[in-house]
Amino acid sequence: MAAVVMDGKALAAKIKGDVRLQVEGMERRPGLAVVLVGEDPAALSYEAGKQRDCRQCGIYYDTFRLPGEVSQEELAEVIQSLNDREDIDGILLLLPLPRHLDQRRAVLAIRADKDVDCVHPANMGDLVLGMDSLRPCTPAGVMRLLEEYQIDPGGRRCVVVGRSNIVGKPQAMLLLQKHGTVTVCHTRTSDLAAECRQADILVAAAGRPGLITGDMVKEGAAVIDVSINPDGQGGLCGDVDFAAAAEHAAFITPVPGGVGPVTRAMLMENTLRAALRHGKR
Ligand code: NAP
Repeated sequence: MAAVVMDGKALAAKIKGDVRLQVEGMERRPGLAVVLVGEDPAALSYEAGKQRDCRQCGIYYDTFRLPGEVSQEELAEVIQSLNDREDIDGILLLLPLPRHLDQRRAVLAIRADKDVDCVHPANMGDLVLGMDSLRPCTPAGVMRLLEEYQIDPGGRRCVVVGRSNIVGKPQAMLLLQKHGTVTVCHTRTSDLAAECRQADILVAAAGRPGLITGDMVKEGAAVIDVSINPDGQGGLCGDVDFAAAAEHAAFITPVPGGVGPVTRAMLMENTLRAALRHGKR
């Protein structure tokens, strides 16, 4: 079977185009602030990407680069100042923070209605309760990809490999809300291959290159590879052996060019949603 390769770049362009159209019609534009602690090159490049996305969508952008040795109190003051600013609808605190900082305290300092990355427990709680709230960008992006390719989780077996707070757990919740029968796998799962072979929808988010081999993919499955790993040759790869899995799957995402760009677009959509909730029109 030749799998359909799910085009995350095209979907991201569509989502960002829709955001831009809506923003152009608004009197007060949405605003996003990114808070970055330290000089990690990967984080700096990630931050530059957000700036580019905001420019493309017409969203106001502000960035706060704090020194790696910033104190908890100084960080809290910056977050509080952003909580109070009317021009800022979304606050993205780049994680992880340096070790001397208490990440949970920092996250709790963000106003939940500005938590466009959905890391605040209030938003995670709403997600579990099925309330309409800001959605974590990566799992929400996966759901958008499924929707785009008319893959309905309803009544299907969905297997999520990974149980992190930012991907695996919220992903399982979103699939469950769409009436999937969901299994979550992790390092203590006794027979990962057997679990994966059951999956009509397989979401890989372990961060382990080559973990999902072709024989672990059910005929006709949708395989969504969330992971972004260095491939050892200067490029990137996911968890799935793409070529082998594509022989069995009906749909598959590439890495790069699959979930990644859609995740970025979802941050723009979340910022717009937050602005609308703040009464910006
Ligand atoms: P994480 O916090 O390291 O969590 C990885 C999860 O995978 C853990 O729950 C772990 O199980 C499980 N796992 C690891 N090895 C496994 C194995 N051999 N068998 C079964 N389960 C295994 O990672 P994360 O933050 O969720 O990110 C996962 C991947 O997604 C990374 O590659 C990351 O770069 C990527 N990512 C991509 C995007 C995007 O936009 N596309 C966004 C976020 C993250 P235990 O809990 O038992 O340790």
